[in-house]
Amino acid sequence: MANLKKPVSRLILLFILMVVVSGGILTFLSINNISNLRLLTEKRIQESQLQIAGQISTQFQEKLNNLAEEFSKNVLSGSARFDSIVRSAPQIRPFLISKEKEFLYPFFIESGQQIAKPATNILADFMNGEADEFQKENPKNAMAHYLSALSKSRTPSDSAKVVNALGRVAVKIKQSEKAHSWYKSVLVNFSGELSPSGIPYSYLAISQLINLNLLANQNEIIALAENFIRQLAENQIPLTPGTQTILNDLSGWFSTVQLQETQQKAVVNLLENINSKLSFISVYSNEIRVITASGRKSELPALSGKYPVFAINVNGKPELLVITSESEMSSGFVVRLNDVWSEVTSHLPGAKDFEYSVDLVSGSAPARPDELAVRTELSTYFPLHRIVIKPANEKLVEKFIRKRSWTYGIALVLLLGGMLLGIVLILRDISREKRMADMQSEFVANVTHELKTPLTSIKMFAETIFLDRAKSEETRKKYANIIMKESEVLKRKIDNILEYSVRKNESIKYRMKETNLSLLVGEVMDEMKYWLDINKFEMKTELDQDIFARVDPEAIKQALTNLIGNAIKYSPADKNLVVRLKKNAEKIVIEVEDKGMGIPKDQLNLVFEKFYRVRTNENESTTGTGLGLSVTRDIVQAHNGEISVESEINKGTKFTVCLNS
Ligand code: ADP
Repeated sequence: MANLKKPVSRLILLFILMVVVSGGILTFLSINNISNLRLLTEKRIQESQLQIAGQISTQFQEKLNNLAEEFSKNVLSGSARFDSIVRSAPQIRPFLISKEKEFLYPFFIESGQQIAKPATNILADFMNGEADEFQKENPKNAMAHYLSALSKSRTPSDSAKVVNALGRVAVKIKQSEKAHSWYKSVLVNFSGELSPSGIPYSYLAISQLINLNLLANQNEIIALAENFIRQLAENQIPLTPGTQTILNDLSGWFSTVQLQETQQKAVVNLLENINSKLSFISVYSNEIRVITASGRKSELPALSGKYPVFAINVNGKPELLVITSESEMSSGFVVRLNDVWSEVTSHLPGAKDFEYSVDLVSGSAPARPDELAVRTELSTYFPLHRIVIKPANEKLVEKFIRKRSWTYGIALVLLLGGMLLGIVLILRDISREKRMADMQSEFVANVTHELKTPLTSIKMFAETIFLDRAKSEETRKKYANIIMKESEVLKRKIDNILEYSVRKNESIKYRMKETNLSLLVGEVMDEMKYWLDINKFEMKTELDQDIFARVDPEAIKQALTNLIGNAIKYSPADKNLVVRLKKNAEKIVIEVEDKGMGIPKDQLNLVFEKFYRVRTNENESTTGTGLGLSVTRDIVQAHNGEISVESEINKGTKFTVCLNS
């Protein structure tokens, strides 16, 4: 034993040393880590912000390229689907100009253009009409000439001119209905035709129509006016420098007439559309003409590698102008920085574990040292602009450090707790092992002693008989009886040991059968009578008759013999034994009660443990293996029963076995 003890405790020492050292190192590292956490966290956040800024910048560039591709798909493919570009890529405003630098989209003509005179076949009639109308102030005659001219007219341009003149004289001679129908004809048939001063006849016609104030035809005039602005918005009637005046008149007039809600909305949309085209012309037409006329080369890298880009500035706001030329026509688009930026930042990439805000600033002021922001370049097209990214929560670092510290703290406490628990468990295990080992070695000594006692007496009495030293037949019989009883004791002890060793290795098979317990207890009492008598025991039995149960009779006998044997063994002074057998509603109860030395309260539960023996001065001289009660309890439990003990020191002990009836 002494040899075994040393390496175990050395190992434990080594284990504890390892636990303490590794725990200490971990604690030190954690504390160190927490103090470096601020720097690390700031660095980590800045790195992710830089990464996000990079992603935004890439997305911005991709968006620009996509816009150029979208434009090219719709326009450069040949069919000039400008309106559809505006719908599919609302951030860009496209344009198309002819080789004469006239705007074809938005369709716009400067006034004062020279338009061809009427054809010769109507020239005479028309000029006579004008002479009657303006010099002689005879509108009726003028009308006749104009009608004659109309009948000869062969071109839409001539017809538009004449029909417009007819409308005009009808107004002069106050024939409103007629005037209405001539002007209607202009709007329906010749809306795109231009007057000699470059004003579309439809402009004149619509102004006249809304001034005629013909209530009866009002719905028709509304429809004509709506159609007129639709044609303006859809590039069918050109915009001119005078469009704005007409639009003002029209929107004033629309506000005085009754419109349905959907009509109202349509009118507002159309007017907005026309206004935005007019403002496009006023803002960009010069710039576009200058660049295309000069054939200036762009210094910026081409969009998508092929679309030339120029940086322009409108009202202090940066924009890009993309111009491509093909078969002497030029087309392109303008796009505002702010529009692309809003589009890109409407789907921001997510950051792993913090929220951030993004801003666009112009100028290159560095970030404040106390703020955890990053500033990076947005795009080569907008070199003055910077992306600024900062955490949404100013206390982000503190929050993060607090969270990390808690995590480290808890993990550390758990780790140290776990290590301590490990030590405690191991120590407990070792002490249990040691106790078991002690008990087992004591058991071997006890067994030897236990078996020796009955054997010695068997040998002594057998020798006496063998050497014929017993005087009388009666004495011989008495000695033979002692030999028999001692061998029974020996058998019982061996049974207990066998039972224990068998139980340790395999489960015991009980032979259950319906048994009369009253008779069985009686038999045990008879078998024990010899020992009770020679120990001068006062014995009492209280047995109910014919109590039956399904038990293994040999096992139950062994259990009872153990209990009665203990009562004899542990009653040095007051030798008194009561054995009871009774049956109540559910249970069969067997009680074995003595008035012996009793068991200390704190060891009452331990006596059923293997090898356990109570140590007191009084029972020091009694021998035993510590197996009897353990075997007894196992037998009772194998019968689904229970065993309990009540005891008081020097007053006695009562074991109660309950079996199912
Ligand atoms: P053993 O008798 O061989 O020591 P047991 O398992 O039968 O082992 O009993 C365990 C211990 O319980 C005994 O050592 C003894 O101290 C105590 N004990 C058992 N029965 C009695 C009893 N009737 N009165 C007092 N002590 C008892």
